[in-house]
Amino acid sequence: MASDAEDLYVIKGPKTLYEMTSAEVAAALERTTTVLLPVGATEDHGAHLPLGVDMFEAREICRRTAYALDQQNCPVVIGPTIPFGVSTFHMGFPGTITLTSSTLILMLKEVMMSLYHHGFRNLCLIHGHDGNLPQMMVAAQDVVDNTPDATVVVMNWMVELSKAYAAGLGKSRKGESHGGEGETARILATHPELVDISKGQAFYLQPHELRKIQSPEHMKTGGGLFYPTRSYKALTPVGSIGDPALATEETGEQGYDVIVNWLVRIIKRDFFDQS
Ligand SMILES: [Zn+2]
Repeated sequence: MASDAEDLYVIKGPKTLYEMTSAEVAAALERTTTVLLPVGATEDHGAHLPLGVDMFEAREICRRTAYALDQQNCPVVIGPTIPFGVSTFHMGFPGTITLTSSTLILMLKEVMMSLYHHGFRNLCLIHGHDGNLPQMMVAAQDVVDNTPDATVVVMNWMVELSKAYAAGLGKSRKGESHGGEGETARILATHPELVDISKGQAFYLQPHELRKIQSPEHMKTGGGLFYPTRSYKALTPVGSIGDPALATEETGEQGYDVIVNWLVRIIKRDFFDQS
């Protein structure tokens, strides 16, 4: 067999909608009306990571969350992973695919309305790319406006993860961000075959630049400021921010634990306990 036809990785269970049959979805709907929707992107993450990082990450977060919830008698279905997002600011790097905001909003809305049509009532939107958060929120409101009884929640786990990094998770004490230590660590934990650390380059932003991308002051990590992002090509010639060489599988696993613990706690509280 030609070397480029080798298996690169396997998909672990639980199944997402793509791996299920229609009959399996019907059976799942007897047990639950809660669905997790992974919202990814296809965009450059530096020379050491594949373009599908955000898609893989969103799917993996949902997979681990669904597994943990099932262990606690709170069954959920994992919806289809949305592979594209708003990645306009990564278009300077070949291979990046971007949707315009209105396309992503419409796609998310129609995917959610399809899931609603089949009986899902609690829809949890979980991103792998924070650039999609504004569109996810608009689509969520649209679905609520167009249904009598859907509950939709947009879940931004980056706030919890940032707190964990601020409290000492990871090695870097500088400004890690897109494609840096944390994100590289999470892909190392799940798709080591797709990571080539030797090709990664450390690149740090100046504090005034980082503040507009990722900092405690930014809305995506719990602050009150939102600066739309300009071209990454102009911001970081290597496409990533931080030092990928600091990443380890262990801190990737720890990062996933922080994310999943938070998601499980909220989903259980808001869709299962109802006390
Ligand atoms: Zn990413």
